[in-house]
Amino acid sequence: MTLFRILGVAVMMLFSSVSIAKTNQPNVVILATGGTIASRGSSSMSLTDYGKSTGNQPIGIQSMIDAVPEMLNFAHVTGEQLYNVGSSKLSLDNWLTLAKRINQLLKSDKVDGIVVTHGTDTMEETAYFLNLVVKSDKPVVLVGSMRPSTGLSADGPLNLANAVALAASPEAKGKGVMVVMNDQISSAFGVTKTNTDNAATFKDPNTGYLGYMQNFKPFFVSTPLQKHTTQSEFDITNLDTLPRVDVNFTTLGSDGVLVDAAVKAGAKGIVNAGVGHANMPVATMESLEKAKAKGVVIVVGSRINSGIVTPKGKYVKAGFVSAMMHNPQKARILLMLALTKTHNIQEIQRMFNEY
Ligand code: ASP
Repeated sequence: MTLFRILGVAVMMLFSSVSIAKTNQPNVVILATGGTIASRGSSSMSLTDYGKSTGNQPIGIQSMIDAVPEMLNFAHVTGEQLYNVGSSKLSLDNWLTLAKRINQLLKSDKVDGIVVTHGTDTMEETAYFLNLVVKSDKPVVLVGSMRPSTGLSADGPLNLANAVALAASPEAKGKGVMVVMNDQISSAFGVTKTNTDNAATFKDPNTGYLGYMQNFKPFFVSTPLQKHTTQSEFDITNLDTLPRVDVNFTTLGSDGVLVDAAVKAGAKGIVNAGVGHANMPVATMESLEKAKAKGVVIVVGSRINSGIVTPKGKYVKAGFVSAMMHNPQKARILLMLALTKTHNIQEIQRMFNEY
């Protein structure tokens, strides 16, 4: 029996009333994809070395639900196990399946909100992708944990209970896809992982948090102004692939070799993670111009995780799109979706301004 579960059962015995589902509660579906929240280490002291690679099998969704009976105070909860992998192992196909399942579930009157359990490494990417393709204003909340379920002070149970409470709350409607971790509510647009291991890893450097959870209640302090979900023009209903978009990371002395390789590999778009306000070495610029001449759409962004890359002269002249407030990993997602609709640079720039 995992520590996650032992703790859950102990709490269930102490407060048996909380485990009784109430009638007329909102219905929340948890879609489980894996990550540290579902993983186990070899002892309470394995805080960074855990999961499948250590031979410890991950925890399934029903055990996670059973371990956190507090969530039944807020919603009637059901779970589906879509995947059970670290989030670095998820694929673009997995995204399409997840998004289609969420859209299908949210069409039903019987579903009021969705929680997606997810590894934290790529959580901001999945959240932003869903933010652009979910067609509902019902709450969709991504949640994970920084410590394995067996770790000392595991953060998964509280994060999960908060996620269900948030997905069940009427105030969360219309806010786009959210991430809740460490009592903080982030927008999919604003959020980024900033620390490899710290429980307070998620920050929203450009926007600030959307709100905070306290005693399992959301307190919102802002609302996202960028288009999302029901306002989004992107539709994945009939898609079974996404166009290839690669990211080139710029450093002092780097060149265009990886840009050339991306073009060779069939990239339809390239996001350049430049230095500062999208600056780059001459050789990188030359490779990007060559790629552009071959029809590849170029987005110039920054490797810095905050600030705005607004259009500047030479890049506009070269026909490049400016990433605005999107970090390179989110710019890649928006460019992939943009390319499913158009190759027109002005149109794509409009999308980067609006989403
Ligand atoms: N390796 C984990 C992941 O699946 C990290 C985490 O979940 O915190 O992203």
